[in-house]
Amino acid sequence: KLASREFQPANTVISIKGVEIGGDQLVVMGGPCAVESAEQIDDIARLVKAAGAQVLRGGAFKPRTGPYSFQGVGVEGLQMMAEAGKKHNILTITEVMTPEYVDVCAEYADILQVGTRNMQNFDLLRKLGTIQTPVLLKRGFSATYDEFLNAAEYILAGGNPNVMLCERGIRTFETYTRNTLDLAAIPVLQSLSHLPVISDPSHGTGRRELVEPMAKASVAAGANGLIIEMHTDPDNSMTGDGVQSLFPDQFAKLMHDLEQLSPLC
Ligand code: PEP
Ligand code: MN
Repeated sequence: KLASREFQPANTVISIKGVEIGGDQLVVMGGPCAVESAEQIDDIARLVKAAGAQVLRGGAFKPRTGPYSFQGVGVEGLQMMAEAGKKHNILTITEVMTPEYVDVCAEYADILQVGTRNMQNFDLLRKLGTIQTPVLLKRGFSATYDEFLNAAEYILAGGNPNVMLCERGIRTFETYTRNTLDLAAIPVLQSLSHLPVISDPSHGTGRRELVEPMAKASVAAGANGLIIEMHTDPDNSMTGDGVQSLFPDQFAKLMHDLEQLSPLC
């Protein structure tokens, strides 16, 4: 299999405009769950960059569990985020949910995210295999490592080698946390595969106070990067993910702590 260590012993390093993912440097992607307005994403881009993160996250198309929830601002959101990214000189990542929107998302964002609910959207994965834009593939919340790596295989087999794996928590019997962040996935996936492994302690716990310890634990476990939700006004965020979003000062403190923890950052 193309994703396996046997096929490629050396780590895959994805290089995007001078930022290397999967190399010696810890990569941090920060930002809101959803792009809400031009002002919001501009403000957050500035803060995320100032804190030292290399990538701005933000969803323009949101895969909401229910059809009546806020679905994202769409293509306009892509434009707002691209503008903020350019202005503050920071890379951008956004979620794409359907094959039809892959090209427009790739036009505006540096990295495309496949959400947990779409890990086995095989038409989407096949389409992502036809371009070269880096893809952050999230683990399905009930997917085994084997299923996860097979999903990555679809993208690789199509001809796009720029895939990173993201552990974002799995469904277990525990309900205190939104998901159970599977820390062991980090070293396991790195032993089975040469692809970079990113951890998402925000969706992995669903609770703001757990993001910092689980971010640090992920780095200690060897994660190549983190994707973390941050919001300037989490109590009024347009998705329910405000409860797991860090305040800007918490994000800045975490970045500072990570630098102490990992000389690689
Ligand atoms: C997100 O990153 O906001 C998101 C919806 O993530 P997941 O697909 O992991 O739920
Ligand atoms: Mn979210």
